[in-house]
Amino acid sequence: MIVPQWIIEKKRDGLALSREEITDFIEGYNREDIPAYQMAALAMAIYLNGMSFEETAFLTEAMMGTGQKLDTSALTLPVCDKHSTGGIGDKVSLILGPLAAACGVAVPMISGRGLGITGGTLDKLESIPGYRTDLSEDEMIAVVEKVGCCIVGQTDRLAPADKKLYGLRDVTATVPSIPLITASIMCKKMSEGLDALVLDVKAGRGAFMKDPEQAKALALNMVRVGAQMNTPVAALISRMDAPLGRCIGNALEVKESIEFLQGKVHGPLWEVTRELTATMIQLSFPQTSLEDARQQVDEALESGKGLEIFRNMIEAQQGDPRVCDDPDAYLPQASCIEDLPAKASGFITDINADAVGRAVLVLGGGRTKSEDHIDHAVGISDLCQIGDAIETGQALLRLHSNQPNRKQQALELLADAITIGDSAPQNLSVILERILPS
Ligand code: URA
Repeated sequence: MIVPQWIIEKKRDGLALSREEITDFIEGYNREDIPAYQMAALAMAIYLNGMSFEETAFLTEAMMGTGQKLDTSALTLPVCDKHSTGGIGDKVSLILGPLAAACGVAVPMISGRGLGITGGTLDKLESIPGYRTDLSEDEMIAVVEKVGCCIVGQTDRLAPADKKLYGLRDVTATVPSIPLITASIMCKKMSEGLDALVLDVKAGRGAFMKDPEQAKALALNMVRVGAQMNTPVAALISRMDAPLGRCIGNALEVKESIEFLQGKVHGPLWEVTRELTATMIQLSFPQTSLEDARQQVDEALESGKGLEIFRNMIEAQQGDPRVCDDPDAYLPQASCIEDLPAKASGFITDINADAVGRAVLVLGGGRTKSEDHIDHAVGISDLCQIGDAIETGQALLRLHSNQPNRKQQALELLADAITIGDSAPQNLSVILERILPS
């Protein structure tokens, strides 16, 4: 018989839990035999005292065990996905899925919604008229077989204990715990029936993990859990101090992704997307060198194959593919578009991702609680980039808004978000570290 308070007591006193204790507790919570207040107490004990690597792997397996694994056996190509811990302007999934598919990887991507200042891939895609994110598992596999990739939301069958526990952690101040985050992310990803997984662990002001060392600890933990489950997992640690790309906001990020796939975007967004996609190819085809994988990504972009697959995916998920020809005509547009002028001349030395994320949230482009509705049209476009030379009065960004009071609040948040200095900063790589499976 399981006595929940004895397990809580053990973790409270800093002792390690056994596989059986962890599994019984998680199964009991999932069946609602163990109430939320006892789960919250255990989550807080884990937050305060941590977990060994073995305990974290047991927790991951226990949460996976509450649901069913996606059956990807019908897919003949190597099955690989990417997961990002989330950032501002991070539209990499929209671009990487089609590019990886163009290079022979099957990508059944299961994504999430935005919460707080970080955006969500599903919200972005839902700004495309008709696009369905709620495909059944059979529909998902059919789209991947036909097109090469799909991007959908989580079904209730996939690690249901995580959905309940994540909601509870959100309201009990137990989200930022490395073992809890590791188990939460890895139980969902390992339920996707993958042959390999690539992680983009963000570090910096606009990320969950502000400190690169913490981001590295999280990445190492997830790579090890993957190895424990016989799945090769690689992680890139990437900088998230400034937003990724020139657009932040749902429809605006779809437009930027289309422009990217048309070959019109360079800079940090390209660096991160190219490296993550190349790493997916390398894990999926171990005989391919990283340099060859990068070249394949370049070719998929330059030949237009990535864009063609993005268009096919939209159509297969019942969205309007004409968005790829003329994004402005088919994506929602804000009623007020206004430039923010620079107050001085010089070079852009810093853009505060946190402030930019908050501004888009108050415009209505994000959520503060999961039930909130979002306004797909609002956000920021044409954001200057670090190192750009700028003249007084020149636009630093373009603000897209639908409500004057929200616009005002966003402008106040943006007032000090961009720093102009006398000289261009050194061109720093956005990728801080690469961790490969051992
Ligand atoms: N994303 C998840 O899926 N889970 C966490 O705990 C944190 C980020």
